[in-house]
Amino acid sequence: MNRLVIRGARLLGADAADLLVEDGVITEVGSVSAPPDAEVLDADGLVALPGLVDLHVHLREPGREDAETIATGSAAAAAGGFTAVFAMANTSPVTDTAEAAERVLDLGRACGLTEVVPVGAVTKGLEGAELAELGLMARSRARVRVFSDDGHCVHDARIMRRALEYIKPFGGVISQHAQDPRLAGREACCHEGEVSGRLGLPGWPGIAEESVVARDVMLARHTGSRVHVAHVSTAGTVEVIRWAKAQGIDVTAEVTPHHLALTTDLLLGYDPVYKVNPPLRPTEDVEALRAGLADGTIDAVATDHAPHARHDKEHAFVDAAFGMLGLETALSVVSDVMVHGGLLDWAGVARVMSASPARIGGLAHQGRGLAVGSTAHITLVDPDRKVTVDAAASRSRSRNNPWHGRTLRGAVEATVFAGRLTHDVRNGAGNRRELTNATTSGADL
Ligand SMILES: [Zn+2]
Repeated sequence: MNRLVIRGARLLGADAADLLVEDGVITEVGSVSAPPDAEVLDADGLVALPGLVDLHVHLREPGREDAETIATGSAAAAAGGFTAVFAMANTSPVTDTAEAAERVLDLGRACGLTEVVPVGAVTKGLEGAELAELGLMARSRARVRVFSDDGHCVHDARIMRRALEYIKPFGGVISQHAQDPRLAGREACCHEGEVSGRLGLPGWPGIAEESVVARDVMLARHTGSRVHVAHVSTAGTVEVIRWAKAQGIDVTAEVTPHHLALTTDLLLGYDPVYKVNPPLRPTEDVEALRAGLADGTIDAVATDHAPHARHDKEHAFVDAAFGMLGLETALSVVSDVMVHGGLLDWAGVARVMSASPARIGGLAHQGRGLAVGSTAHITLVDPDRKVTVDAAASRSRSRNNPWHGRTLRGAVEATVFAGRLTHDVRNGAGNRRELTNATTSGADL
């Protein structure tokens, strides 16, 4: 039997307790006397959270293994404290069939560092014209529940309506990348306002997001189905979601760490590391996003981890690819901005980075708290350790890291995935041994 004792962690930031993990399951919580064969992890002063869950990552495999693979993305996820990540469908080929979804699932299991959950495309080839094999993907071994054309908006209202109707019987959800293509086309790359005017960059107005979200919440009400808003970026979208929730409409939403912390003025140096879709917004929007996350209008933090090879990102601003890394820094950003900013406590972080995303994505064995009988997905955090981000130290294959050189307060110390250490900053040797073990045996979920 595999035994692990975690000694003296503050569970969700409350009182300290020991956790006994046996064969991947939490079997004792409280004061534990360590069995002689148990590995012991001293967690004095650390906060224990249920393993983090990310509803929105781009792992680039298959098709762009020069930017990221499921293996390097899984390693970045483990280092960031994640025990489950949802891999978006905009790979090559697109995840729009049962076979493609099962392939992503199997590659994730072979790595065994985190649960890799495939997101299915809403439309074939992400082209917005014809529904993908939603039912076949749902019934496949991958049990797909989250569908998204992310990178593209499902802009045709009739297609969106039919997709919502189709997924309702099996409890699916459509994660919408809200961007009206007539209001913000493919070239739009800077928040429309003073900065875009000064820099001469094509504007991406907030209304292009807000108008689609307003339509989608009405379609959710009309169909009685479930819509999730990906990467909310404006105060207006927060208002629409707040209204929709008050009406009892089944809508959920996520915000990225970068939209909680970075603002439009960073674009003044034309550095493409800050080019992201939707774009960085002004301070008023950032403040509304923080407030919306604190009061529960926004349910979850999701990274939109978007690795890019240098030859796609290091261009003139208008020609560079959209997107930033996020998996390894997400917890530190949320800790710095939300916890040390006085807006969320650690139980709140557990809600927005674990319990809510697990519920939205339909993962019954993730985000379950730290109780006897739960699968041992655990993230240990030092709430006060200051980290200065070094892009070169990333496990990701890419280096498009907007946090490079910044100092953030709060850091992931160790990650336990299904009872095994997949990351431990204080014990490199143990880490490597466990990694080898995890890699060869696969995930025991
Ligand atoms: Zn997107």
